[in-house]
Amino acid sequence: MQVYKIKINHNLCTGCNVCVVSCPINFDQLRKKGKLTDENAVILVKNGIARPIYVEQRSVNCDGCGVCLRSCPQQAINLQILEME
Ligand code: SF4
Ligand code: SF4
Repeated sequence: MQVYKIKINHNLCTGCNVCVVSCPINFDQLRKKGKLTDENAVILVKNGIARPIYVEQRSVNCDGCGVCLRSCPQQAINLQILEME
């Protein structure tokens, strides 16, 4: 099974929030739940820096679509693809 994890370069990120609003999973969760929180979002800006949120037990996590990577004006996001058992 492949697991997708994004990494943010804290030296480049300006906290602009573009990745948060461009992420299709975040958008879907916002539509369903009405707000984005640590429980349902896959990326949020906290203290001025974007933070990926991965929770193994959760049904919704980053699916590696790459939209945030392409939308980040600072090119601060990298995607890791991990092979899990
Ligand atoms: S789009 Fe890029 S610069 Fe803006 S908050 Fe996200 S990672 Fe940071
Ligand atoms: S790769 Fe896709 S699903 Fe993952 S955080 Fe970025 S936009 Fe969201």
